[in-house]
Amino acid sequence: MSDFKNFIPIAKPWMDDRESDAVARVIATGWITQGPEVASFEKEFADFVGAPHACAVSSCTTALHLALLAVGIKPGDEVITVSHSFIATANSIRYCGASPVFVDIEPDTFNLNPSLIETLINDKTKAILCVHQMGMPCNLEPIIGIARRHNLVVIEDAACAIGSEISWHGKWGKIGKPHGDIACFSFHPRKLLSTGDGGMLTTANDEWDHQFRLWRQHGMSVPDTIRHGAKEVILESYPCVGYNYRMTDVQAAMGREQLKRLPEIVARRRAMVKRYRMLLGEEIPGIGLPLEPKWARSNWQSLCVRLPERVNQITVMQKMLDIGIATRRGVMCAHREDSYRHGTWSCGKGPGPCECEPKRCARLVESERAQDRCIILPLYHQMTEADQLIVVMTLKQSCVHI
Ligand SMILES: *Cc1c(COP(=O)(O)O)cnc(C)c1O
Repeated sequence: MSDFKNFIPIAKPWMDDRESDAVARVIATGWITQGPEVASFEKEFADFVGAPHACAVSSCTTALHLALLAVGIKPGDEVITVSHSFIATANSIRYCGASPVFVDIEPDTFNLNPSLIETLINDKTKAILCVHQMGMPCNLEPIIGIARRHNLVVIEDAACAIGSEISWHGKWGKIGKPHGDIACFSFHPRKLLSTGDGGMLTTANDEWDHQFRLWRQHGMSVPDTIRHGAKEVILESYPCVGYNYRMTDVQAAMGREQLKRLPEIVARRRAMVKRYRMLLGEEIPGIGLPLEPKWARSNWQSLCVRLPERVNQITVMQKMLDIGIATRRGVMCAHREDSYRHGTWSCGKGPGPCECEPKRCARLVESERAQDRCIILPLYHQMTEADQLIVVMTLKQSCVHI
């Protein structure tokens, strides 16, 4: 924690007595792991996004793992995704023994560039794992079109995108309403709705939903909630090797309260980003602001801006931190990490692994540039207009005196 009295953090969950009362209520019932609260949260979440099924799990990472397993991803398969994402996106593909094939991004939305997908498809390609990066919906219509033509499934990494909307055949709908095949959400405190940790899978596919529920609870045929309430002895069986990927009822109780606040959180963030845009545009010549396409309404999980040329990213971040303002570098690129050595991924440069220099891939130029040239600014519900002004003016000063 910082020593600054008026420290401005990068993010902050918005919680109060409503969440603590809900948690206390669950504790008083004596049932604290996955149970009735999780079931209610799932129902409310499904209604909110407009999905037939929502299955709660322990994180978005475990949601992604189960989504890939459900659609049959196995060793030797390839899954097209972005390197420019939190590392869990690519890791989930490797949990299945499959290889991520990285596609570059569009510089102004930070999302996967659909026009680059088709050249990466071969006999091993089984799925597209697209990301709604920082809450901005990616261009699902062409992505799903390509997937359908090549018989691929589409899994949406919607970790950041709870409350974001996309225009679909002329109508606005929430991310998580089945556009692709499965969508995966995160409730980590950096996201808009938090349960500490937690995740959710939404789908229209009954079989996959059934499979998620088995896997998250050790592959157990009869959940403990049912055995607990039964008047007769019920013996469970284990038809498949499962996992412990459960959400607890304590977390779900928080999630239900957070879900009620979500429309207010999204509206406030959209207003704050509008103001940030105005201030940044006025005060900092050469700054690059993200694009919100006509068909997208972002929840603005993060506001990522491109620094003016010749301004050093780390210097700016340090100067701001010295004054008590947290920032983060642009979203990471998995292919530049030591856990992604040659042979563990591909950029589609012919068959086999990428032969580009380590940490530099000729096909992922925009991804690398976004990581190196952008910073994420503080944005959270409780932030004041004065805080925003301080952030902008400090950024301005940090960009000038180099
Ligand atoms: C946060 C995040 C994840 C991981 O979510 P957890 O719930 O922490 O597992 C995955 N993908 C993206 C794009 C994220 O931002």
